[in-house]
Amino acid sequence: MPLQRCTSNTRPGWRWGATGKCYTYTAGSSDAEAKRRAVLQGVAMGESSATTNAVIAAEYFIQEASRRYAKKAEAAMQKEFVRHLTKVLNAVDADVAKALRSGAIDMNDIRRSDQAVRNAFGLSKAEFNRAYRNFTLKAGSMGRDAAIRDFKLGLDFGDLNPHTQGLLEKHAIKACERTMERMTGNVMSTLKTSYDNGDSYYMMRSAISQDFTNMKGYELDRIARTETHSATQQGNNLACGEAGVEYTQWITTGDTRVRHPEMHGQIVRQEGLFTHPIEGWTMLYPGDDSSGADPDAFINCRCFQVPFWMPAGMTAPNMPYFYEEDLVEAPPPTSQH
Ligand SMILES: [Zn+2]
Repeated sequence: MPLQRCTSNTRPGWRWGATGKCYTYTAGSSDAEAKRRAVLQGVAMGESSATTNAVIAAEYFIQEASRRYAKKAEAAMQKEFVRHLTKVLNAVDADVAKALRSGAIDMNDIRRSDQAVRNAFGLSKAEFNRAYRNFTLKAGSMGRDAAIRDFKLGLDFGDLNPHTQGLLEKHAIKACERTMERMTGNVMSTLKTSYDNGDSYYMMRSAISQDFTNMKGYELDRIARTETHSATQQGNNLACGEAGVEYTQWITTGDTRVRHPEMHGQIVRQEGLFTHPIEGWTMLYPGDDSSGADPDAFINCRCFQVPFWMPAGMTAPNMPYFYEEDLVEAPPPTSQH
């Protein structure tokens, strides 16, 4: 394996192949940075092989550099998103209360009540959309920059081209609609339960208020976490496309909470669809909601995608998705004189 242990000035280290520079670390402390540097040198030399390719690179990029950075940046962004959405939900909460008070929500007439709840959400729709759009563009841009930095893609930081921006905006609209639809459903189902229980107006009001408290708490946290991750991965994927990366690879975080172990190491063409080999859902990138995957598949997904550099002498099999062990030997190049 090209990634190998070495010693320099009595310090332990990692190097890429016998000729690579020995990157040392302090014995007893983390070797991740040394390993990452060694892998990066291998990538820079174009000397990657099937066993040491993106999985190893990704592990160290992600665990050390990207994960450390992304965690902090994503956390800050999530907080900001939650703050914005809380404001929007406060307004909706007040509008639903108003509709209940005025009798526009009257559960003797479910259809009319449903419409009244929708109207209450509708009054804040522009605000919802704005929050989602700003946030998705920011997170997408962050993911793009992270990919450019971590994978050395050679693109300029910060410039979203119209195509990338358009796709992120589309993503934002869809995610926003999904959220508003689910929240409307929550409120309606609470109203219905409360009505079926014969609750008084005040009990109904309090049940709804509890709904909004829940939504502003763990639900917004989950939304912000899911959306940040999804948008950053989309930015990452689009950056790979911009840079002409041919193949991308799905990497799980490797801890005990991994929800998609079967996806680990899966490779597709950059514009291709990752496919869950058992459940059958597809995604353009981890956390993608645009390819028909069930929300269960992308909510709280923490998987990453990385570029997959085809090892010298190997080529992709004729399959829509594959793993490193599926690679086949490339036909020998025809000599040209
Ligand atoms: Zn996942």
